[in-house]
Amino acid sequence: HKKLLQELKGKETVTTSGKKIKLYANIGSVEDVGSVLQNDAEGVGLFRSEFLYLQENHYPTEEEQFNSYRTVAEMMGRKKVIIRTLDIGADKQIDYFNLKKEENPALGFRAIRICLTREDIFKTQLRAIYRASAFGNISIMIPMITSKWEVDKVKEIICGVKNELSSDGIPFGIVEFGIMIETPAAVMISEVLAEQVDFFSIGTNDLTQYTLAIDRQNPSLDRFYDSHHPAILRMLQMTIENGHKGGAWVGICGELGADVEVTEQLIKMGIDEISVSPSMVFPLREKIRSL
Ligand code: PEP
Ligand code: MG
Repeated sequence: HKKLLQELKGKETVTTSGKKIKLYANIGSVEDVGSVLQNDAEGVGLFRSEFLYLQENHYPTEEEQFNSYRTVAEMMGRKKVIIRTLDIGADKQIDYFNLKKEENPALGFRAIRICLTREDIFKTQLRAIYRASAFGNISIMIPMITSKWEVDKVKEIICGVKNELSSDGIPFGIVEFGIMIETPAAVMISEVLAEQVDFFSIGTNDLTQYTLAIDRQNPSLDRFYDSHHPAILRMLQMTIENGHKGGAWVGICGELGADVEVTEQLIKMGIDEISVSPSMVFPLREKIRSL
């Protein structure tokens, strides 16, 4: 079967009726790019940038980050690379951040909340991403958005970073701007958020956790952690509809995207892009080509 799957290399990800789906891969480090290319993903739909912060015992410098982002962008050539900005806190703790111990880390100081509080860390990452954008096809994506003001604020900071780079004569490319939809609040205001962004990427891992009020880290709750729950499926539908109404394309980068039991439903809902772990690219392409 593996050999048969390899025959899907270079083939389009398209349904029998001609609907094309962008099939991307999720990565967690520069080392993963090899398997993205081997498995013929059409882009990187989620580059979890946390590894840069987790592998060292100090804040990664702008230069260190720039080198990693640039390497990935160059290896991917003209294909899209969506870099997700820092998403630590909750299940991913880092000592040198000196974050206070919290009663409810999943509901606490994490991701964009850290970035908007410690702007220096955020700006360093943004500068590195924008500098790397001169060397490939880079997009940026912000995790854990719940409110419109957060998106406004991020865009304001990005604007400042771009102005700084311009006045320093440092080149950068056109960077598509997106947010993750992984909180029920973001789903409910997706009509408003769609006006502010180029794309949405639905993070069903956290969206399931926050919608069903179930800790995604707690294995004893597995039978209650149901990402096929009608509440989740309705949220997907709503996000896709609102995204399209506001002119944003909509993808999915949570685990549910790799679940071939829902592929047909996702496509009927109008999903534009699906991003999965590299090993799932061929099985999913096979599934989509059969629909
Ligand atoms: C998600 O929440 O679905 C997601 C893709 O992000 P992460 O698993 O890194 O939280
Ligand atoms: Mg998430």
